[in-house]
Formats: sequence, structure tokens, C-alpha cells
Amino acid sequence: MSTPSAPLLAAPHLSGRRYAVLGLARSGLATLGFLARSGAEAIAWDAREDARAAAAGLPGVTLADPMDIPLHGLDGLVLSPGVPLNSHPVAARARAARCPILGDMDLFQEARRYLPEHRVIGITGTNGKSTTTALLHHLLASAGRTALLGGNIGRPILGEPPLGVGGFYVLELSSFQIDLCHQLACDLAILTNITPDHLDRYPSLEAYAAAKARLFALQPDGATAIIAVDGRLTVSIAAALPARLKLVRVSAGDVDPADQAHWPALQGPHNAQNSACAIAAARVLGLAEKELAEGLRSYKGLPHRMEIVAVRGGVRFVNDSKATNPDSAAPALAAFEGVHWIAGGQAKTDDLDACLPHLGRVEAAYLIGEAAPAFRRILAPHVPVAMAGTLDAAIRAAALAARPGQTVLLSPACASFDQFRDYEARGDAFRAAVLALPEVAAC
Ligand code: ADP
Repeated sequence: MSTPSAPLLAAPHLSGRRYAVLGLARSGLATLGFLARSGAEAIAWDAREDARAAAAGLPGVTLADPMDIPLHGLDGLVLSPGVPLNSHPVAARARAARCPILGDMDLFQEARRYLPEHRVIGITGTNGKSTTTALLHHLLASAGRTALLGGNIGRPILGEPPLGVGGFYVLELSSFQIDLCHQLACDLAILTNITPDHLDRYPSLEAYAAAKARLFALQPDGATAIIAVDGRLTVSIAAALPARLKLVRVSAGDVDPADQAHWPALQGPHNAQNSACAIAAARVLGLAEKELAEGLRSYKGLPHRMEIVAVRGGVRFVNDSKATNPDSAAPALAAFEGVHWIAGGQAKTDDLDACLPHLGRVEAAYLIGEAAPAFRRILAPHVPVAMAGTLDAAIRAAALAARPGQTVLLSPACASFDQFRDYEARGDAFRAAVLALPEVAAC
């Protein structure tokens, strides 16, 4: 990996162009830096004043709301994936002004012409994106390859340095990022799964699936698509894949449980699916079986995904704050026995269907946030339910009730925004509150 002081990605042929940049969180700020290094001008805006303050004074940047300025003649409107393309009026304004709407991945594609020989791997799916991305990056890096982790995983690609010859750019891509892509051409693209999510941004589940499938449509001829065919929608996408691409079908069932037993941070059926995707990709990219086996063993996992933060009197405390929908909470419930389940927040669906088959493992549910009343109606016929309200109260009640060998699990099946900045803040609050309990030994 290059050192942090190395020059960062740039695309000098963009010199003199003018872009509007809307959304100035991490990726928006990285975009401004990239445009400045490339010699382009940017008109930047964010609804939050503190975000605008971070951009004010950057070279080549002026502040103005793209709703208030003419967009005719601009070379592009660079949107943060958080700006809802389906409902934000700026999208219609840009279309009317024939101003292309794009995201940071298309600017990365512009920078690729200056890079030495390299490969780009794009990873998407409703769940398992970060795990598969981090695992594939780890497999490559631990085998001595030059690899960089970026994208939706919290490392905007445009703030990164170029890799040397033979580098692998391993990018996590959300469907919102793919919606903003018109150029990104992945040498290898991976789809883990598709289940209902983000239905406030898409007119139907099929439309959401089609958004994910665009990642493959953008690939160049002869590129490889790896698709986990464990669900109806991914099976359909694999069946409709253009013949100009090489298709590798994988499944959670490809992973031998006897092998998986040796991969401590990759337990559970969902991680069999993630591992199957990353293993297939690593093979396509030329890794030897011995390198793979070693990398799968040494992978450490990511924070907020089934992360054991402490044990106290034989009780495990697990932070799975990243489980923001019922489909992603279900595997955590399936992975433990005697679960004191902390759930709730801002619901994305009005059911918990994916979790219901695992309620036999749940000792009690401790409900928090906006979703608590609806979740109580679903869960109360099956398990004892406590209306805890806040995360702190839920942790205290669960810690009191849990017996040795049992697990206190934060796997909320909900977004966090009603009570926290994001899922990371929620997971950090869980960790801090657990460690503040008497007699807790951190892992
Ligand atoms: P993403 O980046 O797509 O949100 P992560 O790898 O961060 O996915 O995992 C988020 C949560 O989703 C985890 O806490 C885990 O419970 C669940 N999960 C991970 N992989 C899968 C999978 N392949 N299928 C279903 N759920 C999964």
C-alpha cells in the first residue's frame, strides 16, 4: 500500500472543467480535493452549515446551492449517494439543463487512464458488502498483493493515492453509488444477495434489483461477474447476464463447514455466502489455495458486525449495530443461543419476517426507538418483551437478566437515525455502555 504522503488520485484532463458538488460529507470533501488536484473548478453545497464550512476556502471551490444557480454549461453535478435521486428537485433541474449527474466512482474512472496496469473490483449486494470487500482486500494484501480498500466502506476512493503496477482497487458500492455510475467499468464485479431494502428510494423491489444489476451492464467485454445465486433475484440476474461477460455462480453451500470452522471471524451461514464470493474472486485474481487458506484464517472481521466487545460472568456482549434491516439481523440471531436481543430504532420494513424463524433462540427482546411499539406487536406472542426505550436502559436490563453462556446481542434490524448519528455511533455507544458495566472484561 502507498504511504499516506504519496500524491493522491487526479485526472489532469479535467483541468478547466466546472462541476457542482452537492453533499459535503467524507466523499464530497474527497471529491473537492480530487477536482482541485485535477485543475477543475467546483461549486459546492451542503444543507448543513458545518459541512459547508469544511469546504469554504478550499482551492478552486466556491459555495452556492445548485438549486439557486444555472446548471446549463456545467460539466457535471456530482451528487453524494445520500442525496435521493428519485425525490430531490436538483435531479430534475440538472436533467432539464442537460447537466450530467454523476458520482465519485465516475470521476475515479476518469483517473484510471493515468494509473499503471491495475484492476478494479466492485462489490455490491443488500447485505455482506463490507464483509466481502474487507475479506477480499485482506486475502489479497495478506498474500502480498498491492491492494486498496475504498468506496462505501467509509474510505472515499478519490482521497486515496494511486497504487503501483498490478494494484487491485477493491471497492464497496451501494446501489445509490451505482445509480450515479455511467462509466465505472469493473474488471470484476460481485453481487452477494438482494433482499428488500431502501424501498423509499426505488418504486419496487425489482427496480432496486435492476439498480444493482447495472454494475454488470457497465463492465467491459470479457470481464468477470461473480453472483451468489442463493436467492430468487440474484438467480434472475445471473440468468440474464450478457454473454460478453464471464459468469461465476457461487453459493453459501460451496463452503465446507469443516473449513469454515477454521475462520474465526467468518462464522454463520451469511458469512459462508460472503466467503464464497471472496474466495471465487481471489481465485479469478490468481491467488493460490495456500494463500487463500491462510488469509481466511487470519481475517479479523469488522467493527459493528457480530463483534464480541466483552464477556462478563460468562455472558457475551455482541455489537451487531450494522444489522440495519431484518435480513441482516437474522444471521446474528442464528449464530448464538440464549439471546437477549436488543432491537429497534428507525424501521425500514413493517415486518420482522426474516427474524421469526430464530425466535426459539431468543430469551427476551429489549426494544428501543421508534420501532418499539410495532416490534412489540410482532414479538410479544412469541418471546418476553421489555419496552426499554433507550440503548442504555436495554443494556442494563439485558445484562441483569442474562445467565452464563448466554449472549446480549445488539442487532437492531433498524436504522439508527432516530437516536444516533449513524450505526457506528450506535455501536460505539453499545461498546462504551457495556464496558462501563461492573466486572466487564473487554475482548
Ligand atoms: P453491508 O456492508 O452490505 O451492510 P456488512 O458486511 O457490513 O454488509 O454486514 C452487515 C450486517 O449484515 C452484518 O451485521 C450481518 O449480520 C449481516 N450480513 C452480513 N453478510 C450477510 C449476508 N451475506 N447475508 C445476510 N446478512 C448478512
